[in-house]
Amino acid sequence: MRNAILLLGATALMCLGNARAEPTPPWRIAVDVGHHWRAPGAISARGRSELSFNQILADQLVLALEAHGMRVQLINRDGEMESLPARPRSAPDADLFVSIHHDSVEERELLPWTWEGRPQTYNDQWQGHSLFVSRRNPLPEASLLCASTMGALLQREGFTPTDKNARRRPWADQANTVHWYDNLVVLHQARQPAVLVEAGVIKNRDEELLLADPERQARMADALATGIAACLQVLHPPGAPTTEAGPPP
Ligand SMILES: [Zn+2]
Repeated sequence: MRNAILLLGATALMCLGNARAEPTPPWRIAVDVGHHWRAPGAISARGRSELSFNQILADQLVLALEAHGMRVQLINRDGEMESLPARPRSAPDADLFVSIHHDSVEERELLPWTWEGRPQTYNDQWQGHSLFVSRRNPLPEASLLCASTMGALLQREGFTPTDKNARRRPWADQANTVHWYDNLVVLHQARQPAVLVEAGVIKNRDEELLLADPERQARMADALATGIAACLQVLHPPGAPTTEAGPPP
């Protein structure tokens, strides 16, 4: 399996250079906004919910994917979808499922500070993105391939990864900062390859500002979309019909 991944990865990385210029079939990408209004995820160093960061980056990713000629289904844009299994279930025909998140740190690593008169918590030790795939997904090798190309593109475009999550999650592809996280529900319930993106650490006071910058959000979204295009060129080469992935029901 490892050799097959390396071979596919090399092919996908060769595609990176021309992924932007190649006409692409109308691949179908499901983009999931992580968390929901009643449990909005982490709270940033300045008191913003992770959900609000996820919504904005997901919007940017939709634009970037559509610019690459892909069809996009945006899941949970309004933050109303509480069920995790319902998210992949709502996109059975997608070629790839991508869940957008922003990272935090453990409770014991948080330090107190005051922002605009309100007590908040922060941690400036960790910053950077990371990606996750599940071996319980029906297509773990394809999931890893897409995560690896997405991670490769982020680094090629100057985004810095973090090894923070290697403390708890084993490496699937250390060079591109991809971890195994087998029990993530949206990943193992998906019938197609699935990747969860942690775009950065919103508890880091400097990185929070970077993650809130619209120009940088657009660049990150374009890097992710380019990596997705490179991966799908390998999984579903142009000229071949895209087929529904996953085992029969
Ligand atoms: Zn999250």
